[in-house]
Order: sequence, then C-alpha cells, then structure tokens
Amino acid sequence: MRLEIAGHVIEAHSVGGIETSFQVPSFDCNLDIGRCPPPALRRSRLFLTHAHMDHAAGLPYYVAMRAMQNLSPPKIFCPAGIRDELYQILRLWTQLDSSADRCELVGINPGQRFALGGDRYVEAFRVPHRVETLGYCLIRQRRKLHPRYQGLNGRALVEKTQQGETIHTVTNIPEICFPGDTNITVVEKQPLVRTARLLLLECTFIGDRPGPTWARKGGHIHLDDLAERAELFENEAIVLTHFSRRYTPDVIRKAVRERLPAKLLERVQLLIHEPA
Ligand SMILES: [Zn+2]
Repeated sequence: MRLEIAGHVIEAHSVGGIETSFQVPSFDCNLDIGRCPPPALRRSRLFLTHAHMDHAAGLPYYVAMRAMQNLSPPKIFCPAGIRDELYQILRLWTQLDSSADRCELVGINPGQRFALGGDRYVEAFRVPHRVETLGYCLIRQRRKLHPRYQGLNGRALVEKTQQGETIHTVTNIPEICFPGDTNITVVEKQPLVRTARLLLLECTFIGDRPGPTWARKGGHIHLDDLAERAELFENEAIVLTHFSRRYTPDVIRKAVRERLPAKLLERVQLLIHEPA
C-alpha cells in the first residue's frame, strides 16, 4: 500500500504475525524487511528492528537478489546482540547461493546515531519487546544561517568561518519514527516516538480479549493503551499498523473510531490490508 503522508511517500506492508516492511525512498531505506516485497530491493539500506520471522525472514533473499541484479551491496543495521547470528545465517546461505552474504551488517546499540549522507541521520533506541529490539528514527538536520550573520556577503561569511566562528544554527527534525514491535511503555520512555513528524506505530490488539495487560506482556500495543495516552502524542501524523489478523477491517475501523479521542483520531491513518 502506498502512503503519502507528512511529506514522505512510503510503501507499506504490515499485517501482524505475517509481514512487516516499509520502504522510505526519501531516506533510501527499508524499515524491516518482512518477506522482502519487490519494492524493498530498490532500497540500499535496511534497518532491522528484531529477528521475529514476520519482520526479518526476507533478509537472505534481499541480500542475494540485490547481488543478482548487480545492485550495490546493502548496508544493514540490526541490534548488536543479534548481529553475529544473522551473519552466520547469511554465511551459511552463501554455501547454497553464492551471493547471500554480499552486504555490510552493522550491529548497533541504543542511542547510537549514524550519518546517512547529506543532511540525514538515523538514531536507534531501545524498545521493550519479547526479544532484543531496536527502534529507529530517521532524522533530518536543518542548517540555517545564524540571524547575527544575515546580510553578510559570501566572502565575509567564508572569513568568519575561517576565523573559527560557527555561522549556522542546526535543528534536528525527527522525520519518521519506527519502534517496530513494542509494548506501550516506549511512548512514555522515548521522546522521539512522541515527537517525530510521522510515527509508524504497531497496534496489534483491540477489544477485550486479549486486553491491554495481555498485550503488554506479549510485547505489543493495545488500542486502549493509545486512547489512555492520547495527550502524549505530538506527531503530525500517526500510521497504526500490525493489526492482528483476528480482526476484520470493519471491526478495526469501528473500534478506532469509537475509542480514540478526536484530537488523536484526526491525525491517525490505518494501515489495513483487505483480505484477498
Ligand atoms: Zn516481534
């Protein structure tokens, strides 16, 4: 499904327990790889939140198909604690398919930030789930000439820089935040989740069974958790994803309409895949 939202175009695939993968051309990246949907091959980076099969199964396929199509080896970021196991999987697959390990696999820790070229960055943060999980925030840096230097010509600005003066102010704009699979506590603990312009947030469960307590124990979010914390979200837009297959599209739409306060509902878009 193609989304045009908060200034970004995103290709989205997300059904709880089946597949989760987003393609973000503005940052040339995939957020999770799912079963490697075809548009994922065009993106040269992958930010992998965790190794559950519905988020990570397409990894060897992604690496091998990019090699087969003579595309550059992808750069793959993953939680540091699972990096070696993922590397072994790719190495073993290499014995069967000579191209499956042509990639750069980078294990990262919560709080680490990587430059992505130009004015773009990614920052990883810890996420509470059943296995080691990282969330990612895609960040744009906006540099503006400091007001005190406005009106100076180019040569004067170069001189100021050569004299060691910082002539720009830098603002970090969290553009897209993706915690992956998580329970609700990530919203309270991580400011990037609350402030990113666009939040891609799982909402696996709605209704009474299973309820919020069970959802939290299982490392997932329940719709009631969101309703209770509606005031915390400062995001321009929120895409709710990863709904369990046990709910029909109509049941999901009705529950969201009825339970979310208007102030949150007006910024929410649902990612629901209609049954085939
Ligand atoms: Zn998971």
